[in-house]
Amino acid sequence: MWYFVNFILGAILGSFLNVIIYRSVEGLSINNPPRSFCPNCKTTLKWYDNIPILSYIILRGRCRYCHQRIPIRYLLVELVMAFGFLIHSLFFIWQVNLILNAILFVTIAVIFIDLKIMMIPDFAWIIIGVVSIVDLILNGELFLRLISFVVVLSILLILKAIYKEGMGSGDIFLMSVFSFLLSLPFAFYMMILSSVLGIFFAYLRKSKVIPFGPFISLSGYFLYILDILIMVKYY
Ligand SMILES: [Zn+2]
Repeated sequence: MWYFVNFILGAILGSFLNVIIYRSVEGLSINNPPRSFCPNCKTTLKWYDNIPILSYIILRGRCRYCHQRIPIRYLLVELVMAFGFLIHSLFFIWQVNLILNAILFVTIAVIFIDLKIMMIPDFAWIIIGVVSIVDLILNGELFLRLISFVVVLSILLILKAIYKEGMGSGDIFLMSVFSFLLSLPFAFYMMILSSVLGIFFAYLRKSKVIPFGPFISLSGYFLYILDILIMVKYY
């Protein structure tokens, strides 16, 4: 039952995330208009056009009204969220399960929004901030986390002062809260891993500006799992 709840919750939040991604990228308000609409013909969608995963498959990836193709991203986000939540519930106790769900939500949001408009939404670091407080309550280690946070933040501010265009303030916020969540030494691994991945990505894309957000979130997500598995926390 718990596994099933996780799967459904993941699918529903994935559907909600698609709305957030679309509206953030287009610069629209998240809650106005309140109902989902087709980006092409602007028809307000009925509830049965909005069932996560199923509607996309039934409608064969097209709008019911104007038959415009719906990007595969919509299905992909819902599937990754649903199966991600399911896997978290299969392998981890419920506290870790919920924390990982929240980190995955942020990671997918940041991947699609930051790559498209080079901006990390505020809710990303706010959610990770809340998650890190929950993790602090569960696992303690306040002092080590504070050192981790201050050291990482200082390094980032120095880098920002040297290379003015290199990092946005969104990157700095996100990496700092992740360093409080992961604590030492994993915060350092996250910093190194996300920098290497980000620079490699920019090199492949031949672009000068680096969207660090997706790599910070992905590194944070995987290192949090690694930390749990290695340190055998919560047991
Ligand atoms: Zn349409």
